[in-house]
Amino acid sequence: MSENLLEVRGLSAGYGQIEVLHSLDFHVADGEIVVILGANGAGKTTTMRSVSGMIQRSGDVLFDGNRIGSARPDAVLRVGISQVPQGRGTFTDLTVEDNLRAGAYSVKGSIAADIDRWYDVFPRLAERRDQRAGSLSGGEQQMLAIARAMMNRPKLLLCDEPSLGLAPIITQNLFKILGELRDEMGMALLVVEQNAGLSLQLCDRAYVLETGHIVASGTGDELLNDDTVKQAYLGGAG
Ligand code: ATP
Repeated sequence: MSENLLEVRGLSAGYGQIEVLHSLDFHVADGEIVVILGANGAGKTTTMRSVSGMIQRSGDVLFDGNRIGSARPDAVLRVGISQVPQGRGTFTDLTVEDNLRAGAYSVKGSIAADIDRWYDVFPRLAERRDQRAGSLSGGEQQMLAIARAMMNRPKLLLCDEPSLGLAPIITQNLFKILGELRDEMGMALLVVEQNAGLSLQLCDRAYVLETGHIVASGTGDELLNDDTVKQAYLGGAG
C-alpha cells in the first residue's frame, strides 16, 4: 500500500494508437503542492485527464491506497479528486451561484456553509453571485472554476494551467490563494503549468515533463537553480 495520497507508477496514455505519456512515475503526498512543468504539447493535460479518469490509461494509479487506475471520472470525483480543467470549465450560461451548486452535485447534505466559505475566499464571486459566469473576467472565471471544484470538498485538487490567459498580477494572486487553501485545509494540489517562475516558487516539489517523459524532478528551489530548467523554462535567467 502507498503512503502517498496519490501514487502513479508506469502511467501510459494517449489517443487512439498514439501514445502520449510513456510510463510516468510521480506522487503527491498529503498536503503537498506538486507542479508538473512542461512546454506546449509535452503531455500535461493528458496527465491530468489520466488521473481524473477522462481517458484510457495503463499503469497503476493509487489514491489513499486504493487503485483508481480504471475508475471513471464520476468515481474519481467521489474518492476526493476534483479537477479544474484547462480553459476554466465553468458553465457560462449559469450564474456564479448555480456553478457552485453544480460543483457540489456529489456532496450529500447542506452545502450552504460551503458556498459562504467560497464567497469569503473570493469576495468578487459574492458580489457577482447572480451574474452569468460567462460575463465574468478571465481572473474571476478562474476563481469560480477553483471554487466550483472545491465545492466537492476534495483531498486533491488538479489544476490544469491556472495561469493561462491571465495577467501576471492576477496569476500571482491566484497562486497565493492556492497556497493559502493548502495551508488552511491541508488539501494537496497537483498543478500543471508552463509558467515555471511562479509555479516553482509556489510548489513543494516539481517534475519536468518533455514529450511524455519525466526528465527532471526536485524541490521548487532545486529546479529554479537547475541550469537546464533555467535555459528551457526561465528564459535562461538566473
Ligand atoms: P498545452 O500546454 O498545449 O495544453 P500539454 O502539455 O497539455 O500542452 P497535451 O494537451 O497533453 O499537452 O497534448 C500532448 C499531445 O497529445 C500533443 O501532441 C497533442 O497534439 C496530443 N493530443 C492532445 N489531445 C488530443 C486528442 N484529444 N486527440 C488526439 N491527440 C491529442
